[in-house]
Amino acid sequence: MQKKASRVVTEESQSVRSFIASLPKTEIHLHIEGLVSVDSIWSLIQKHKLDIGIRSRRELKKRFQVTSLTEFIDLFINIIQACLRSEEDLTYLIDDTRTYLTRNNIRYAEIFFAPTKLIKNGLDFDRIISILDTGADQLRGEGLDVRYIVDVSRGFGLENAMRNLELTLAHPTENIIGLGLGGAEQSGPAREYEPVFQKARAAGLKVVAHAGEDVGPESIWDTVDILGAQRIGHGISAIQDRKLMDHLKERGIPLEICPTSNLFTRKYATSLREHPIRAFFDHGMYVTVNTDDPTLFGVELNEEYTGLLEAGIFTLPELLQILKNGVFATFLSDQRKTEIWAEIESTIRASDFADAAPQT
Ligand SMILES: [Zn+2]
Repeated sequence: MQKKASRVVTEESQSVRSFIASLPKTEIHLHIEGLVSVDSIWSLIQKHKLDIGIRSRRELKKRFQVTSLTEFIDLFINIIQACLRSEEDLTYLIDDTRTYLTRNNIRYAEIFFAPTKLIKNGLDFDRIISILDTGADQLRGEGLDVRYIVDVSRGFGLENAMRNLELTLAHPTENIIGLGLGGAEQSGPAREYEPVFQKARAAGLKVVAHAGEDVGPESIWDTVDILGAQRIGHGISAIQDRKLMDHLKERGIPLEICPTSNLFTRKYATSLREHPIRAFFDHGMYVTVNTDDPTLFGVELNEEYTGLLEAGIFTLPELLQILKNGVFATFLSDQRKTEIWAEIESTIRASDFADAAPQT
């Protein structure tokens, strides 16, 4: 009997997994360097004959299985970004973006790219933009809509952030829609970047910031009230500050939550059960689900959604509400958001899970 029961559960969960995989989706917190495949980096190491101490693809694959923040940063900066030695190398990232978006049925994504290290590698900003731009246009022709957000890191300081913003403004393109603050929060308070964000907002760019991932609620207050961030990357330390939770709720500021990434950093949660995503949802905050760096964390968007369901954190109707939040938290026009949601909703209504559709 027990065996039969567990088989039934497995079949059911398989059917929900297929359903989630079949739904069109959006993703709003995703780093292009974090979706690159092991094969691409291995090809680039060979292409440039790079001497970075990695002798085989197998060894490289092992380096991708990071187990600490130090290993993660080492992989991101000293391997992935170090391999991008020419502008043409960015086409590998475009190809991997295509594969990732297609595999997860993501119709629209807002993707971070961090230019600083590439410029330090000798790449020309103008050429970087041109290749990313062409890539986005190609993907759009294939039904995969992509926009970029320039990611400036706290680790490189204010002057560098301003320089990146000025370069961005000097190369306007409809595919670059915003500026984001990233990097280790411990390396400097967000408020130091006020002049950069003020200038970005005045120029019509959207602004977002990683905050409350590695330090307390004060970082989130700063990004919302001083930088004017329209969305918060992670924001999980808000759980320590009820007033901030109310503030984020009242302002309707979306939180770009990346459950697996947050468990990896082990700062505010070490299991999905402890993760504040449920408390935020119950508080009426604007919660979305994303992956951050799918290859590096070994998780894709379909799995992030199914993981929350299978761990019993959310019911299917709640999860579909969060998926809907993901559409309406994008920087698309209201009309385009409505169109994307209509497509998702009709897929839900035509499925065996029609009853789980969020109320309109
Ligand atoms: Zn991130």
